[in-house]
Amino acid sequence: MNDCIFCKIVNGEIPSNKVYEDDKILSFKDLNPEAPVHVLIIPKKHISSLNEVDDEAAETIAHIFKIVPKLVKELGIDEGGYRIVSNCGEDGGQSVPHVHFHLLGGRSLNWPPG
Ligand code: AMP
Ligand code: ZN
Repeated sequence: MNDCIFCKIVNGEIPSNKVYEDDKILSFKDLNPEAPVHVLIIPKKHISSLNEVDDEAAETIAHIFKIVPKLVKELGIDEGGYRIVSNCGEDGGQSVPHVHFHLLGGRSLNWPPG
């Protein structure tokens, strides 16, 4: 998917502020942070939404959650707490059609979201 912003971030066409990378996933700072810590975690392989998750994507998503304890420690939010959220589709407020998880922390977060 050549027009996908996050694929362009993965292949280096668009710069990003990386906080973690391995062969399967990438994490970088959100351009418009909603909290003192706001990073996105994405599978490197394009998948447009959670509706499209197959076995391979599910493995990659499991891998994302294996990395979370290390990532939140590095970001200094492991003790204070944090939220991970993935928006899907129009009602979910998804604006970039490449699956991503928002990791937010560094302040007390409201619940429920609007
Ligand atoms: P969502 O609205 O859940 O699809 O989230 C998309 C997120 O991507 C938003 O929080 C945007 O601020 C963020 N975003 C869009 N373009 C970039 C970019 N080039 N670098 C970093 N974050 C971005
Ligand atoms: Zn993509």
